[in-house]
Amino acid sequence: MKKKSRAVFLDRDGTINKMVFNTDHGILDSPLSSGQLELLSGASRALSLLKKGGFLLVLISNQPGVAKGKMKMGDFLEIDRRLDFLLSKSGTRFDAKFYCLHHPDAKVKSLRRRCLCRKPKPGLILRAARELGINLAESYMVGDGITDIQAGLSAGCKTVFIGNFKPELWNYLKGGKKPDIIAKSLLEAARSII
Ligand SMILES: [Zn+2]
Repeated sequence: MKKKSRAVFLDRDGTINKMVFNTDHGILDSPLSSGQLELLSGASRALSLLKKGGFLLVLISNQPGVAKGKMKMGDFLEIDRRLDFLLSKSGTRFDAKFYCLHHPDAKVKSLRRRCLCRKPKPGLILRAARELGINLAESYMVGDGITDIQAGLSAGCKTVFIGNFKPELWNYLKGGKKPDIIAKSLLEAARSII
């Protein structure tokens, strides 16, 4: 039997690309157009390192913007292509990308769903593992949100939190489990994983 691959599952907004300040709501939000997509410093380098380290790179991202009526499907697709383009400039790319476009309160009816793929549910990770033959126990879920860590734990991965991990966040993790790695940036995370 073919040996299963190891993967790094990655969140997108706030992990690979910068969040965008939404002046209407005074909050940080996901990019809503390709022009707003900007990679975080060191992100492509981190992905190259992980790839050289023998990991498959798999994007795992909730993108409810279309469902919520904040952007059109065309904008979503353009952002996705722009991400590939920016990464290709430093010679790296994802092996696969899995998006959840659903939202339970979506304005767009076709996307209104209590799905099994929206993080913190592990559906996207489990699907990626099935389709790509990934050994989950030897793989990592990396993200800047508590839902990334929850999804990774539910899928049976190791987990990496990017940012300031406040101890009270442990209460939201199964059995008060801590992320395996806490890092300031994706580059620092990649170095710890390797
Ligand atoms: Zn979904």
